[in-house]
Amino acid sequence: MNNKHFITTHTHTNTHTSNMAMENKKQDVVLDGPKKLVAAFPDKELSLASRSVHADDYINNHQAVAPPMHVSTTFRYSDDPDKLVSWENTNPNAPYDSHVYSRDSAPNTTRFEALLSSIIGAPCLSYASGLAAFHAMIVFLNPKRVAIGGGYHGCHGILGIINKLNGLEKLELENENDLNKLQPGDVIHVETPLNPTGEARDLEYYRRKADELGCYLTVDATFAPPPLMDPFQYGVDIVMHSATKYFGGHSDMLSGVLAVRPDRAEADLENGKKGWIRELRDERLHLGGVMGSLEGWLGVRSLRTLELRVKRQSESAQALVDFFAAEKEKEGSLAGGLVYKIQHASQQPEAKVEGSWLRKQMPNGFGPVFSIWLKSEEHAKRLPSKLHLFHHATSLGGIESLIEWRAMTDPKVDRRLLRVSIGVEGWEDLRDDLLQGLQKLKEELGNWDVKG
Ligand SMILES: *Cc1c(COP(=O)(O)O)cnc(C)c1O
Repeated sequence: MNNKHFITTHTHTNTHTSNMAMENKKQDVVLDGPKKLVAAFPDKELSLASRSVHADDYINNHQAVAPPMHVSTTFRYSDDPDKLVSWENTNPNAPYDSHVYSRDSAPNTTRFEALLSSIIGAPCLSYASGLAAFHAMIVFLNPKRVAIGGGYHGCHGILGIINKLNGLEKLELENENDLNKLQPGDVIHVETPLNPTGEARDLEYYRRKADELGCYLTVDATFAPPPLMDPFQYGVDIVMHSATKYFGGHSDMLSGVLAVRPDRAEADLENGKKGWIRELRDERLHLGGVMGSLEGWLGVRSLRTLELRVKRQSESAQALVDFFAAEKEKEGSLAGGLVYKIQHASQQPEAKVEGSWLRKQMPNGFGPVFSIWLKSEEHAKRLPSKLHLFHHATSLGGIESLIEWRAMTDPKVDRRLLRVSIGVEGWEDLRDDLLQGLQKLKEELGNWDVKG
């Protein structure tokens, strides 16, 4: 992973800020800002695990170890009339936790963003949901055409709405002819790994295409959060996540994230460029799709254990995929009789090839989501109700394992497909639960040995 410590300065270094305030800000950064933690370890970069626990410490100006939850939507201005500056409300006692109105910034979401910026390695903004983040990204880049593949159906829904507004054209990502219709300023949007199969797409290839065509490259990396993948190694312009999934990790908060390639994020004030983070934040103030404070608080709680959870979930998923892929090949086995195929990045041919794009792109595991196709729709529909350790529900990324007969929410997906999201339970227990579920199916549906 690229472990640079990126810093989003969430106090008001905006275009309204006076020069004097800017001078003070510079000093603050050196004295007690996010750089303090980096400076304390001059010879090394802190691990992802350590940053997930401490990257927001600089914001905390209270003795409490656990973060407080602030529900306030609005924040008092200075008592000193001579210090009043438009959209600038820096509290000298809490320079990194200073706010005006919660549609612009608020304490809990600011800490969430500070952590994410360090974890992802690029400045981040949070949104009300993954789709709110995708919407904000498309509004910001304002392309005439977007090349997009299968993947999460909701993103296609947003492109449909934008098409209604301005005629935005949707092109097929995996069709070379379509890709070549892109013009400079258009967007190549790659979801990897893909929903619902968990299969990966080659970011190096799409970066080359984007460069050739003068397009932006955006990536939906929801299925492979750190430490599984770092899309910025491929020069991606904006990385989005549905933070509802692994960043939230407990099936109890909606959130979305945009992370901006550091050179794009930075302001170049001499040339009148505010930088993409500032511009996106200004647009978010008007789009209004901000996270709530409770979600920001839950998000901070969740990110503390991101690495533990994601590593464990990915390893367990791998163990299950390996087990069932092997079982499926055994003559007379339960899986051999019922399972048609298993899809996961680890099942792609390149996963077996040392030095392949896939091994390079996902060096730390292929992710906790995969798909199992049963041989008939009826089987797929009935398996979830036979399981005890998997909830039959949509979504993914939580600590509890989920299975979804995907036809419930995605009408475009094959009706034999079950999407599986592995939680933090013991993988052998999950294996045994799936095996007993298949056994029950076999008994219930008698004539089960259908040839696929
Ligand atoms: C869930 C999901 C989204 C949408 O996120 P929400 O937080 O539900 O709005 C987008 N992309 C992918 C890959 C997802 O899994």
